[in-house]
Amino acid sequence: MAFVILAPCETEKAGECATVCPVDCIVEGTDQFYIDPDVCIDCGACKAVCPVDAIEEEYDLTPEQEVYLEKAEAFFANE
Ligand code: SF4
Repeated sequence: MAFVILAPCETEKAGECATVCPVDCIVEGTDQFYIDPDVCIDCGACKAVCPVDAIEEEYDLTPEQEVYLEKAEAFFANE
């Protein structure tokens, strides 16, 4: 399981999440920040500090939000 960064990040990119992540698995992309789902340890620290509430647990995603998990997987597959 992993946390996922959603649409509000696309216009915000505040970046507090990347600062607090204990396993350094949040990376800045051109359009938003991404969480590496293979490295995330589900601590929730990023969700707690996000100023635009852009971060949700993988299993809490709505069907419309699933694309953001796929975007994250594709982002890290191409790194
Ligand atoms: Fe990093 Fe924890 Fe957020 Fe996962 S839940 S991305 S480990 S801060």
